[in-house]
Amino acid sequence: MEKVKVAVNGYGTIGKRVADAVRLQPDMELIGIGKTSPNYEAIIADKKGIKIYTVKDNISKFEKSGIKVAGTIEDMVKEADIIVDTTPNGVGATYKPLYQSLGKNALFQGGEKADVADISFSALCNYDDAKGKKYIRVVSCNTTGMLRIICTMNKISKVEKVRATIVRRAADPKEVKRGPINSIVPDPASVPSHHAKDVLTVLKGIDIVTMAVIAPTTLMHLHTMVLTVKDKVNKDDIINTFLNTPRIVLVNSSRTTVSSTAEIIEVSRDMGRVRYDIPEVVVFEDSIYTNGNEVFLMYGVHQESIVVPENIDAIRASLGIMGKEESIKVTNDTLGIMKGYLI
Ligand code: NAD
Repeated sequence: MEKVKVAVNGYGTIGKRVADAVRLQPDMELIGIGKTSPNYEAIIADKKGIKIYTVKDNISKFEKSGIKVAGTIEDMVKEADIIVDTTPNGVGATYKPLYQSLGKNALFQGGEKADVADISFSALCNYDDAKGKKYIRVVSCNTTGMLRIICTMNKISKVEKVRATIVRRAADPKEVKRGPINSIVPDPASVPSHHAKDVLTVLKGIDIVTMAVIAPTTLMHLHTMVLTVKDKVNKDDIINTFLNTPRIVLVNSSRTTVSSTAEIIEVSRDMGRVRYDIPEVVVFEDSIYTNGNEVFLMYGVHQESIVVPENIDAIRASLGIMGKEESIKVTNDTLGIMKGYLI
């Protein structure tokens, strides 16, 4: 099988995970990464044998740090079939003219404005609509979590209304300069938060309002959500549907004693998962409550890894190399993504 040539531009929290995931795909080859600073992440990429490309002015900085440079980011883009842009918020848009001028397909991340791409993407919700699209934006970690839940609930009964509160992690574990460290901050203080708007870029027309706060934690986000669905639903149907949906896992707090984001992460560490990543949405089974046609639930979102499988599927959708079910299956199998109970 001829492999598609994938370049990852921006090698931080998301980029290094996407690059590792690409290397595990039978139909993809990682041709290199774009990196502007010769930090520890670049040193480790170099040790893994990944080709590193940078901007012309920074080549000597990399060489001083003992890191081999394969060429400029432009050289890398020329060689690729598709670029996964995982540069910081807003930087991806500044690269779009380069990708366009060289006629390359590209994926962008949730930190970019929606109009950077032809479509915003969530594999479970709109894979087929993204087929053949040259520019795809994989929505943010929080939006990916919400969309997985909403699109899965839609299979049980049509979702008519969503109200959610997002308790956001303050920073990723590596981010030493972000906070708060001793406060809970409305984000923003006005309602609704932008997360609802982001869901609407994929599920057009749905009645959704979100609020968000930032909490002093680095491990996961936690969402509380109330969905109003068309028909009366029961808790068992919801649990059974979630148990049979890959990329959603359940934790039963009464049976396992796991009842917090900290314990979910500890479980992942104990399971020996790489970087303790949890690309699945983790639903607290005991939080699922129904009241007529209302459904209440709480779930955790591991912000560093949840969008990784979505990026892999978006590569295949953009290049039109696989259908939805096949791509999701290959991605899940290669990345060890689960369904059922986390433990
Ligand atoms: P990050 O800061 O960890 O990584 C970005 C990388 O891009 C860094 O290595 C940085 O050195 C590099 N970079 C900076 N300027 C560059 C340039 N001009 N050219 C090439 N590389 C450059 O950021 P991140 O958390 O991985 O976020 C990347 C994107 O993913 C953002 O759009 C963000 O909103 C989105 N996202 C982040 C998370 C998360 O929780 N971290 C979750 C989902 C989506």
